[in-house]
Amino acid sequence: MSRGKVYLVGAGPGDPGLLTLKGAACLSRADVVVYDFLANPALLAHAAGAEQMYVGKKGSDHTLEQSEINALLVRLGREGRVVVRLKGGDPFVFGRGGEEAEALAEAGVPFEIVPGVTSAVAAPAYAGISLTHRNMTSSVGFITGHEDPTKPESSLDWDRLATGLGTLVFLMGVQRLGHIASSLVAAGRPADTPAALVRWGSAPEQTTVVGTLADIADKAKKAGMTPPAVLVVGEVVSLRDRLNWFETLPLFGRTVLVTRTREQAGALSQALADLGGRVIECPTIRIAPPDDWGPVDRAVDRLADTAWVVLTSPNGVDFLLGRLKERGLDARRFAPVRLAAIGPATAERLAAYGLKADLVPQEYVAEALARDLKAAGVSGRKVLLARAAQARKVLPQALSAAGAIVEEVVLYQTLVPEGLPPEVESLPAEQIPDLVTFTSSSTVTHFIELAKRHGLERLLSVPAACIGPITGRTARQAGLNVAVEAETYTIPDLVAAIQAHFTQG
Ligand code: SAH
Repeated sequence: MSRGKVYLVGAGPGDPGLLTLKGAACLSRADVVVYDFLANPALLAHAAGAEQMYVGKKGSDHTLEQSEINALLVRLGREGRVVVRLKGGDPFVFGRGGEEAEALAEAGVPFEIVPGVTSAVAAPAYAGISLTHRNMTSSVGFITGHEDPTKPESSLDWDRLATGLGTLVFLMGVQRLGHIASSLVAAGRPADTPAALVRWGSAPEQTTVVGTLADIADKAKKAGMTPPAVLVVGEVVSLRDRLNWFETLPLFGRTVLVTRTREQAGALSQALADLGGRVIECPTIRIAPPDDWGPVDRAVDRLADTAWVVLTSPNGVDFLLGRLKERGLDARRFAPVRLAAIGPATAERLAAYGLKADLVPQEYVAEALARDLKAAGVSGRKVLLARAAQARKVLPQALSAAGAIVEEVVLYQTLVPEGLPPEVESLPAEQIPDLVTFTSSSTVTHFIELAKRHGLERLLSVPAACIGPITGRTARQAGLNVAVEAETYTIPDLVAAIQAHFTQG
């Protein structure tokens, strides 16, 4: 018995948060994902282990013909694989999902349909247009603006469309916008009927042009609108004046480069995207274990005579506890010592392992941590500093000056990554980001090194947003233009400072 099955999954319109839970579950157990340009590549992160096949489809530049895609899905299913065919929006709304399902049915390959949020609904929603409204219209139609070119006559009944339905939503209509608008007017829809064209709905690149049937084609042309876009026709378009929530978010239209490690970028990127920003992740740090675990192992074996263990990053906590686990040990090793964390994120990570930080300074920098440890009484006692290889000297120096017996061990090293992600390498010259974020001094120095190495020196003029004064100083000394500097060394504070920068500046 083969377990092969093909899931036709709606990817939603662009905002990766609009994928359904069922769609995400299918992706996570897929052996292979077949996708095209309308499906947000960010969704592939749900299918970490799966083979990925891009089958194109952008306007007329098809990478694979529809019949070839059908045949591919049948073949993969017959091979016994779990296949996700990821389709933009909803698979059964003008997505040719019907044809793909028919081919699978005919070949006897099991399949399921996982509906998605169609652009026909999402693009208007993100443009602040409710498709129906009690006081305006009680019907809505989805119409293709791109009819089968082999048919000699229009298969659309313009007379009935123009007068028999309230709101009209046209997909694939950008190229024939003039024709659509004039056909509706000729068939009896008033020329002053409001109309809106929404391009890349729900994505940070969303652009909306509003007009009437009389002028929407002209306006769209002037604005340089190209596919993919949805045309909405009807009174409801006027609701946008009051309901335009997305394009008015504080970071809408802004592009922010986030320079943390891939693993860490999530929270910052998500917060910026939630504010409407377009986020490009540019990892500038690759974290690797130390070359030699010996010093860490020996220090852990001698914790009985240690007063304090000091941790200065969530990564450090993960590496330390990870190493313990590798050696068949656990958090009980820390019973004899007190634990100091440089800030709340590090303390939270300790808590995830069941460990409570005994000391977290008010201000999340080495200087404050040294001061508080000194006050807690470290004179003549052993303090284990477990940190990154390239960490600053402030802390060991201050602690030694306070009479502590400082032992330093390396938990991990921060290296410059080999390359840049394709989104950054291929960033068009005219698309200069509005801001680049730095969450530590090494993100600054690595970013500069990467930009130079890859011929992207123009990115060095992008205004910088730094998590705190120390990172800010590193950035300024390196010649960067620091536009935002958070005060408390936390991600929420950095996000708030960035928001303030864009709304007040
Ligand atoms: N199955 C898809 C539609 C595929 S047909 C869905 O349910 O959304 C392709 C057309 O969809 C495009 O020409 C455009 O009209 C529309 N479209 C897809 N994604 C879009 C988006 N993010 N914003 C606006 N229109 C979009």
